[in-house]
Amino acid sequence: AAPLLEIDGLTVQFPTPAGPMSVVRDVSFAVAAGECLGIVGESGSGKSMTSRAVLRLVPPPGRIAGGSVRFDGTDLLTLTEKQMRSVRGAQISMVFQDPTASLNPLFSIGRQLTDVIRTHTDAGRAEARRRAVEVLDQVGFADARRRLRAYPFELSGGLRQRVSIALALACGPKLVIADEPTTNLDVSIQAQIIDLLLQLKNDVGFAILFISHDLGVVASIADRVSIMYAGRALETGPASAVLAQPSHPYTQRLLRSAPTLESRRADGLPSIPGAAPQLGELPAGCPFTARCELAIEGVCAEVEPVWTDLGDGRAAMCHLLEKELANA
Ligand code: SF4
Ligand code: MG
Repeated sequence: AAPLLEIDGLTVQFPTPAGPMSVVRDVSFAVAAGECLGIVGESGSGKSMTSRAVLRLVPPPGRIAGGSVRFDGTDLLTLTEKQMRSVRGAQISMVFQDPTASLNPLFSIGRQLTDVIRTHTDAGRAEARRRAVEVLDQVGFADARRRLRAYPFELSGGLRQRVSIALALACGPKLVIADEPTTNLDVSIQAQIIDLLLQLKNDVGFAILFISHDLGVVASIADRVSIMYAGRALETGPASAVLAQPSHPYTQRLLRSAPTLESRRADGLPSIPGAAPQLGELPAGCPFTARCELAIEGVCAEVEPVWTDLGDGRAAMCHLLEKELANA
């Protein structure tokens, strides 16, 4: 069967005085129905921009400069803005890092849920209310009916994130895009939210595009991962295999630097030596060259590596892997 979401050659550019700069470059991946794909990368790797591009929410003056975003058989890049609005929030919904991004402080939880449901379905007032109670119950509110009257400020951060997940669920999406949904939460609450997403994925059956810089969190939820760096995907494969035995030097470094809390920078990212990539100053070859301990002199900076198929659904983009195959 065709995947639910299939992104092919996606490129997102922003204009700069020096010409268009690609913040996402030639990125391809697929998400099957009911599957969770984790997109992992440091800030500035293009992972959030990729998820925004799926919903055609790239902030101007950025624009999608190439590629296709096929969802359930339709290239979303060919839809009118009106058609796109009926996809967003209904067939594809989002959960953000900051729940206040999806919650309106002025309206009760019940009002926000019933508004979303009535915008995207033909449910009447009573039916929308019934559905609102149902999704609040699904995200773990024992007293769902009473919670309809609550306002976002009356809830803790963890409960607010549960409400934004309820909003994302309300119209029965096939795909939920979760962009760092636990990053602002206490560690104990993080685990609860991940458990909730996993449980909903299994019970309700939606697919998840899970965006995160945190390898530990991704390992606990993703079926497959795609590792991004400097706007490009560098490695992809089943989450357990990639995280147990990474093939790309960048993934290896990320994993080596991930385990201890002390080694994390204040923003929670594992810190690896060398400056984060400046998109405007990338070499013509591999984007990781400047920080790579294994870089091949005269090759890596000049020649762009191609995808090497490593079998078992794994692939990575590195000259060392190409050479290994050539020498095998
Ligand atoms: Fe390192 Fe070269 Fe591989 Fe890039 S292509 S990751 S610079 S060895
Ligand atoms: Mg981000």
